[in-house]
Amino acid sequence: MKVNVKMRKSEAVPDEITDIINSNRSFLLTSHRNPDGDAVGSILAMADILKKMKKETYIFLEDGVPEIYRFLPHADEVNTILEGNFNVTLVMDCENEKRVSERIDLRRHARMLINIDHHPTTGSFGDYRYIDPGAAAVGEQVYALARALDVAVGRDAAECIYVSILTDTGSFKYSNTTAHTHRLAAGLIEQGLQPADIASRIYERRSIDQLRLQAAVIEDMTVDGRLAWSAISSDMLEALGLAEADFDGAIDIVRSVDGVEVAVLFTQRPDGKVKTSLRSKSKFSVLDAARELGGGGHKAAAGFLTTDPMPVVVEKTIRLLRERLGQGGVHE
Ligand code: 5GP
Ligand code: MN
Repeated sequence: MKVNVKMRKSEAVPDEITDIINSNRSFLLTSHRNPDGDAVGSILAMADILKKMKKETYIFLEDGVPEIYRFLPHADEVNTILEGNFNVTLVMDCENEKRVSERIDLRRHARMLINIDHHPTTGSFGDYRYIDPGAAAVGEQVYALARALDVAVGRDAAECIYVSILTDTGSFKYSNTTAHTHRLAAGLIEQGLQPADIASRIYERRSIDQLRLQAAVIEDMTVDGRLAWSAISSDMLEALGLAEADFDGAIDIVRSVDGVEVAVLFTQRPDGKVKTSLRSKSKFSVLDAARELGGGGHKAAAGFLTTDPMPVVVEKTIRLLRERLGQGGVHE
């Protein structure tokens, strides 16, 4: 019997990138604003590997490390200001330079910029690029880099890589999870990390106000055929005393509804901008819609940010998705 296994088409680490890392001394490591587990995990793992090679590292995340990831090795080395000059900048898990910071010109801090990413839509920025859309998380690419650089992945780097994979695959639930992902995770666990402990630190430390926000997400939710959406206003966030980083996972409530293929969560930030998160549970790609609306991401998980008022964003997005899903008219 032929077994149909989802194969991972992997991209090899380009030789020029290992050469550049080997022959340079100081590195700036950075990723996108509002960093998620992959952004944090992949840069901290990369920092660990570079330190093993006796390189100098400066880690910069404009918004710092979200509380739930602060237990990770090297999390206390993350800077929220960027100063100094470096030989090479590594931008990880980030489709464009603007997502690192809108006010900083990265080019002023190093003469060479390397783009390490798994987003299929990643921009053409970077003097050198290691792009692998088949990687479930950039953490998988960091593991490949460590091998290419001949550096052993110890427990610290393993923990960071594990978190990047755990979070970007939705705890090994999403369609980017492959046999390779599990094999790699098994190898990381063999370094001595405790999967239950890590999962508990990330997913079982919710405050009651975060849970109340989840209740509000359910309360506001509209389910319309294969499409479901919910909106969080900035008033709601303020009333609960929450910041954006506190509601990671709210979109999972929307996507968990039976029969729903496409889930959308609209969040109004304190500055009035609306952040939209899109998820697909089927072959339907939310990436095309996200791009059309000014964002990016992956086929199964995408997003965009806009200055349009909430009702306008909701209307535009839902109309577009209904069209694409072949779901006509409103039936409310
Ligand atoms: P999330 O909904 O978890 O914030 O993001 C899901 C995916 O969409 C991630 O891969 C993320 O990089 C991408 N994404 C989210 N927001 C934006 C955005 O404003 N611009 C772009 N280009 N991609 C985004
Ligand atoms: Mn990622």
